[in-house]
This record gives sequence, structure tokens and C-alpha cells, in this order.
Amino acid sequence: MNHTTRFAPSPTGYLHLGHAYAALFARARGSRFLLRLEDIDAGRCRPEYAEAILEDLAWLGIRWDGPVRVQSAHAAEHRAALQRLRPFLYPCFCTRADIAAAAAAPHGPAGPVYPGTCRGLSAAEAAERIAAGIPHAWRLDVARAMQGLPPLSFHELGQGRLPCDPLAVGDVVLARKDAGLSYHLCVVVDDAAQGVTLVTRGEDLQPATAIHRLLQELLGLPEPLYAHHRLILDAAGRRLAKRDRAATLRDLRAAGLSPADVLALLPPWQPSPLPSARSSA
Ligand code: GLU
Repeated sequence: MNHTTRFAPSPTGYLHLGHAYAALFARARGSRFLLRLEDIDAGRCRPEYAEAILEDLAWLGIRWDGPVRVQSAHAAEHRAALQRLRPFLYPCFCTRADIAAAAAAPHGPAGPVYPGTCRGLSAAEAAERIAAGIPHAWRLDVARAMQGLPPLSFHELGQGRLPCDPLAVGDVVLARKDAGLSYHLCVVVDDAAQGVTLVTRGEDLQPATAIHRLLQELLGLPEPLYAHHRLILDAAGRRLAKRDRAATLRDLRAAGLSPADVLALLPPWQPSPLPSARSSA
């Protein structure tokens, strides 16, 4: 098990039990375990949450290898990748309301699929709108980007190769004019830059893997293995969210729980043991 894994929380709130599980799941599957702070959403991320992540992990006894990669410090690498994808990008001027109003907008595994309204704009029209200062995002033309590529798939640990279809997710936003680059682009660039060989994360992100595989192909990045894990639910069966304060690690700590008490609240995170290669004979 010579994998490099990582835990990549966004400092938009305090860590909860779901994060502790995700970090332990990753650490148990790698001989090298990295930490990355995904802090590109400047509007939602806060330095005090970033500090709290380091502190909470240390309190739980979860240590990582090497320096912490702070995503926002690598904007030049992300921009260079965006530049290389330019032939497959188009500017999109739709607002959220425009997209919601497009009656035909189908729903894909990762949410609403962009109906393609701006895909057909002429270069002249797009240039005119940009010049007029209309806010826009840059979307990936998935169908065009896939031309000439073999069918895509990913390797899910324990399940083998699974087919995946980026068209089902649709033309994702890779950059916004004022709000920087998207999760999809940064995550594939950073996983490759950090030499991550096994990406572990919650099963809610599995649909996004189709887009990540496409970006890896387009950018010539190595393909990691994937292990998508269960989400930790609250007593009512809802997935934990950062707004559920009661479940934050600091609140559990403030309530007097020890690290061992907190770990005991989690389902097992170790990989199931492989059948022994040595028989008893
Ligand atoms: N930053 C993401 C999150 O906090 C994790 C992304 C990933 O592991 O690919 O949900």
C-alpha cells in the first residue's frame, strides 16, 4: 500500500465528525498522507478556520507528511492550466436565474446540467458582451473536449474500472471573471502537483470524477486511483454540514470528550483486511 493520499478540507467552517472520518480514511490508505487547504473561495474561506483545521487535526492525533499545500498560493499553476484548456472554453453570461429558468435544463448526477445557452454564441457576439463589461464565467465545452478521446473511466478501489461520462455532468464552470478558478480545475492540478496517487473523498463527489478524468486527459496529468467513502450522517439521517455546530470537533472537545471518545463515535475507517497471502498450511 504505497499510496500518497490527501485530506483536502475547505476552511469555510469548523471540522466535524465527517471530516475526521475523511482524514482517517485517507491516512489509513496511504504510506504518505498530505494535507491541502482548499481555500480558493475567498468569499467563504477564513484564516481562523484554516488555523482551526490544523489545531483540530493535531488534537485528534492526525499528523500529515510534508508541508501543508495552501491552494490559493498556487494560482499561477491553476491559471497556466486554464490557459492550456482555452481551445475548449467558452464565455457564459448566464445568471443563476437564467439557468434555472431554462425549462429544458436536465438534472445530472452532480446537479443541474447547464443547458448550453451560451455555447453557440458567435465569437463576435461574445467579444461584444465582454467589452460591454457583462460578468461572465468560462465553461468547458465538454462535447468538444471529448472529441478524439477514448471513452473515459476511473479506477475505484475495490471495484475496479468504472465507466464515467462527463457529458452527464455537463459544461462545468472552470473560471469566473472575478471569483477565480473552480474546484474542478484546482483539484486536478493540485493532486498531480502533490503526487497524489489515491484520491479519497466523500461519495457525494463521485459524479465530479468524470470531469476530473476529462481534465486529466486534456492536461496530460497522471490518473490517480479513487476511493469514494460513505458520508457520516446525523441522528436524523442527514449528512453532516458545517452549519450543524453540535457536531464540530471543537464543540465535542468543549463538551469534555477526549480524542479517543471522538474516534469511538466514528464507523471503522480502516481498509478491510486482505485475505492473507500465506495459507495456514
Ligand atoms: N475541498 C473539498 C471539500 O471540502 C474536498 C475535495 C476533494 O477531496 O476532492 O469537500
